[in-house]
Amino acid sequence: MEEDGSLSAYPEHEKLKQFNAGYESATQAVGDFLEWIASQQSARLMVFAEWIEEFKITCPNTHFTAGGIAHCEVCDENGSAATSEKKSGWVPAAGSLTGWLADWSGVDLAKLEAEKRAMLDAIRAQNLTTEPKAASA
Ligand SMILES: [Zn+2]
Repeated sequence: MEEDGSLSAYPEHEKLKQFNAGYESATQAVGDFLEWIASQQSARLMVFAEWIEEFKITCPNTHFTAGGIAHCEVCDENGSAATSEKKSGWVPAAGSLTGWLADWSGVDLAKLEAEKRAMLDAIRAQNLTTEPKAASA
């Protein structure tokens, strides 16, 4: 009865079992989930950040007096002054999904790539040494 799946007494458990069977690794599953949630909900990974925003203001002070130019504490008598304000808010997380998954799993992507190349080189070297045997057989 349970062989075809649809008549299982626990259909949701069967779905879960089949879903999990489609994944070889946690990073693959999490990566697929994040891509899915982004497509379904326009969801993005965000981080709360604080930064200093710099801008110029027009000096509100009067600089010319009967005695000449008065010293201005705001702008040094040039009419505008640089100022800054502390800002904060949610911004998209820096980096890529691949990079986050690598960081999370503790895998160094450069070392992983080097290992793949070494593996291919080893396979090629093995093929070269076994080729004459295969040809004579
Ligand atoms: Zn001024």
